[in-house]
Amino acid sequence: MASKGITILGASGSIGVSTLDVLARHPDRFHVFALTANSNVDKIFEQCQRFQPRYAVMVETVAATLLEKRLQAVGSEVVVLAGAEALDAVASSPETDYVMAAIVGAAGLLPTLAAARAGKRVMLANKEALVMSGQLFIDAVREHGAELLPIDSEHNAVFQCLPTDGRKGVEKILLTASGGPFRTWSSSDLQGVTPEQAVAHPNWSMGQKISVDSATLMNKGLEVIEACWLFGLPAERVEVVVHPQSTIHSMVSYNDGSVLAQLGNPDMRTPIAYALGWPERLVSGVAPLDLFATARLDFEQPDRERFPCLLLAYDAHARGGYATIALNAANEVAVKAFLGREIGFADIPLLVKDVMHQASAGTPMNLDDILIQDEESRVRSLSWIKNKKLH
Ligand code: NDP
Repeated sequence: MASKGITILGASGSIGVSTLDVLARHPDRFHVFALTANSNVDKIFEQCQRFQPRYAVMVETVAATLLEKRLQAVGSEVVVLAGAEALDAVASSPETDYVMAAIVGAAGLLPTLAAARAGKRVMLANKEALVMSGQLFIDAVREHGAELLPIDSEHNAVFQCLPTDGRKGVEKILLTASGGPFRTWSSSDLQGVTPEQAVAHPNWSMGQKISVDSATLMNKGLEVIEACWLFGLPAERVEVVVHPQSTIHSMVSYNDGSVLAQLGNPDMRTPIAYALGWPERLVSGVAPLDLFATARLDFEQPDRERFPCLLLAYDAHARGGYATIALNAANEVAVKAFLGREIGFADIPLLVKDVMHQASAGTPMNLDDILIQDEESRVRSLSWIKNKKLH
């Protein structure tokens, strides 16, 4: 079998690092074509030394210059490219077979779409890209013969539990949620949550933004929208189940009473290896699940009052594409402001609700309209924060 060329968008992040860990176990099947990051020169330098990609892309120009100098000093032949357009170029290059879409947030939309339009195997971690572009993205996948494989552990689990030939007999998707670090906290305690507490996820080790999203349950909300697009089901058939142990990664409920579940240790290398090898299974480095050590599997309803972000996401999806873009943009701005101690944890849903409700009804039909809505919602979110500080 010919070695597959891999581009990792967001190589310096948590998913990027786990992807390289899996690739390193299969040097005969895969080679790294391109690694990308925003500005983390140290990490990409180290990865270039080890994996010798053809290209390294740094979005920030200063970082690109610095990386180039460091690579030249050690005699490396890696070609360094700068700027966001270079992300699209490596993601759609004929020398790339598979693209790991692991940039965080809206910044991942254009290169992920470029990969889909170039007919690649798109391994989608960057859920924000799909939440923003919905039908447009799914149409691009279909029209250009791309393969879309979910990396989110929940959607990867669902993918593994669905029939291979359509949705026959499928009643519901049951998306599991750990409930985050504040599952048992009271509403008044949630007012005082610090960024340090919010990024300390009980089961998963992840980037800062998704860790905060997990703490507010916005991550689960984004995942509900992601599941609707990926699996072509209405939101009423995507249910969230809180499962604090994160042993079951999600389930599919069938019309004969069967519920199929995928279980495993909470380690992203399992879904990454599954997407890389599909339809085969590959060694991932993840330890086998010890069911006797797990002992308990608990399930609860999500608390929609203490964690309003989940309902906001269902609401946005019902309103249409403009609202989901606004939801995502407002959330990104809110999380950044929370991490920068400009707003409190409980302000996140308030800001998101306000900005999402200002979005027009309906769904944008082209990329320009998507990007305009994204930009407008960010401006509204920033002025919300400014007003909040004034009062
Ligand atoms: P990290 O914050 O760890 O990494 C983000 C990556 O994106 C880094 O490589 C970063 O580069 C790059 N990046 C950030 N901003 C930009 C930008 N403006 N342009 C280009 N690249 C940029 O995030 P995670 O790995 O945790 O998450 C990545 C995506 O995967 C998210 O969408 C998340 O929701 C999803 N996901 C993550 C999971 C996890 O376990 N971590 C699980 C399931 C989904 P730099 O380092 O230079 O800033």
